[in-house]
Order: sequence, then structure tokens, then C-alpha cells
Amino acid sequence: MIVRSRSVENSEQATRPTDLRRSSRDWREVAEKVRAGERLSAEDGLALLSCNELPVLGELAMEVRFRKNPEPRVTYIVDRNINPTNVCIAKCRFCAFDRLPGDPEGYVLPKDEIFRKIDELMEVGGVQILMQGGHHPDLGIDYYEDLFRSIRERYPDLHIHGLSPSEVSHVSRVSKISLEEVVGRLQKAGLNSIPGGGAEILVDRVRREIAPGKSMTDDWLGVMRIAHQHGMRTTATMMYGHVETPAERVEHLLRLRELQDETGGFTAFICWPFQPGGSELDLPRTGANEFLRMNAVARVMLDNFDHQQTSFVTQGDKLGQMGLFFGCDDFGGTMLEENVVSAAGTQCLITMQEIETTIRAAGFVPARRTMSYEVLAS
Ligand code: SF4
Repeated sequence: MIVRSRSVENSEQATRPTDLRRSSRDWREVAEKVRAGERLSAEDGLALLSCNELPVLGELAMEVRFRKNPEPRVTYIVDRNINPTNVCIAKCRFCAFDRLPGDPEGYVLPKDEIFRKIDELMEVGGVQILMQGGHHPDLGIDYYEDLFRSIRERYPDLHIHGLSPSEVSHVSRVSKISLEEVVGRLQKAGLNSIPGGGAEILVDRVRREIAPGKSMTDDWLGVMRIAHQHGMRTTATMMYGHVETPAERVEHLLRLRELQDETGGFTAFICWPFQPGGSELDLPRTGANEFLRMNAVARVMLDNFDHQQTSFVTQGDKLGQMGLFFGCDDFGGTMLEENVVSAAGTQCLITMQEIETTIRAAGFVPARRTMSYEVLAS
């Protein structure tokens, strides 16, 4: 994948947030609330985000992690990322993967190529494809129905985890049908669950600044609500470390927690930092401390989420392993290939054996799972 820089002409220079409001609340009081199993408020979350005692945050997160999942088990899934197209009209300012219509590097994968990728996944015992791509202006409901139906006919037991909420909204716009109809028809065609991609930060001020062409907060949550009402499970994500304030990170977590209270449809939460490189947003990379802190705070705030994944794909196996001591009980997926993060110059893929070795080296027991966190016999 060739990384290219998008012109920054005529675009506003991105800046780190200026609203760095610190909580007046003492983090020690919040720690007591976590230990007592009490629900945390926005002010509590803000106090933990600005707490300098990283080991304490880790300890609190692990308390919640083991309350939720008492076994010293860390799960992972054998899956493959397939990006059916990189053609996209959304123009997110942090993206280095997309190509505008007409760009010679734009592609739509032929079905045979998709089948070949799935065959490779099946050969290594894979159980799921993660299918996400660009907002292609010509690909509507007919294209995705046909694609999922063809995959379902050929691979009846394969789990199709596909189309993030913003893609579902895009299909709805292209085909001029309701979100309910898109979700219902895709489910009938073979879609099993929806990945939580494209959440970035679920605050419209932030979304307007970094991804104005993508669905806004209520739309993203609305697609997830519809999916949950259709009996689909979904994941939830967060991309932090760009133009958002600490208070907006907390607001993101609270919006997810609120929907989870209502539907219970989220299986897991995954967060990773903005990856500079090849994209229009010119901001420095946030570090390891921030990754561990964000995971720990998410784990204690999201008291109604059963699982949390550590993002080794963006952080590497060592820091990904550290995430297991800051509230994460899952190592994510093998992916086999990853194009979106790698377009921004960051990619860390390791083999199933390496995943298991990394989990064992941290003192946990590795286990393969399905999307719904059912543990598979090894
Ligand atoms: S992040 Fe997704 S929606 Fe945004 S520009 Fe990239 S491919 Fe398009």
C-alpha cells in the first residue's frame, strides 16, 4: 500500500485541544468508588484521565477486568481483514487509506480475489472476516447484498463482521432507503455483526473537525441501536489523540455506556491512538503512557461492557501485551492483513503462535474465540 500525503492547502491546521480542563475531584475518592463497584460520573472519568499514578489506574482496571472475567484467560480470534474498496468520498482528515473516485490507485476487489483471501483464512482455521472499506459513491445495497450472499453461499459457517455504522449510513444514502432497511437486508444476505469502526470520538464538534463527511454521533449510535434491535452484536471503538479534549473522551465513553444500558448489544471496546503519517492531520503521536491510561480509564468507566481488546495492531506486541495489565482481556484478531492502519505507516501483525506466546509470557492463558466471545476448543 503506497502512503501518500493529502494536500493541506486550503485546510485548517489541526491543533491540539485547548480545553484541557482538569477535574477538581480527587482521584483517590474515585478509586474508592471503583473498588466499591459504583458507577463513575463524567467528573470521575476526568479525574482519572488526569491522574498521574499510572500503576494505580492499572490496578483499578484489573480489578474491574477480573470482576467481569475471573479466569486468567486472554482470548483472540482468527480472522482476516478484507477491505473491498479504498474508493471513498468521505475525506476524513486522519485517513491515508482512501482514494477519491478516478484515482489510479483506487480499487474495488473482484469477488474471486475476496474468495481467495477467505480460502487462505480457512486454511489456517479462521472463523471470521472483518470487512470494511471506503464510502464508494457507486456501491449501494445491491452490491453489498450480492457480495454477502455470495460469501454466505460459499462459506456457510464463516462469520461476516462487516460494514461500520458510517458505511451503513453511506449505503442508506446511496440507495435512498432507511437505515432499518439496510441493516435488515444485509442481515438477510448473510451479515452477522457490525464492527465499531468509524466511531473516532463520538462528539460532533470533533467529528466535524476531523471527519466532516462521515456520520455524526447520533447517526453512528443509531445504526448500532438498529443492529442490536435486529439481534446483531457489535463492537465499539475509540480513536483518541488528535483534536479531542479529555472531557470529550469521557463523553464518548458515556455515550457508549448509555446505549449499552439500553440494548446490551456491544461485545467489546477497543481503543487506539491517531496514527500520523500520510494523512492531512499534522499532529504528533501520543505515547505508551496515554495508551495504557486510556485503556484503564475506559475499563473502569464502561462497567456494562464485558470485554476490552488491546490494540497490538497499532501498538506492537510489547505495548499490546502491557494492555493486558490495564484492563484488557482480549488480544483482538489475527487479521492476516491490515490495510487501513498500515496506510498511515503503522502495522504490527504477528502470527497465532506469537499471539499465544505473548499472552503466555504475560502470565495469562490464551484461548481462541468467536465474535460473541464463545471460547473455541484449541
Ligand atoms: S476513514 Fe474510512 S470513511 Fe474516512 S476517508 Fe478513510 S476510508 Fe473513507
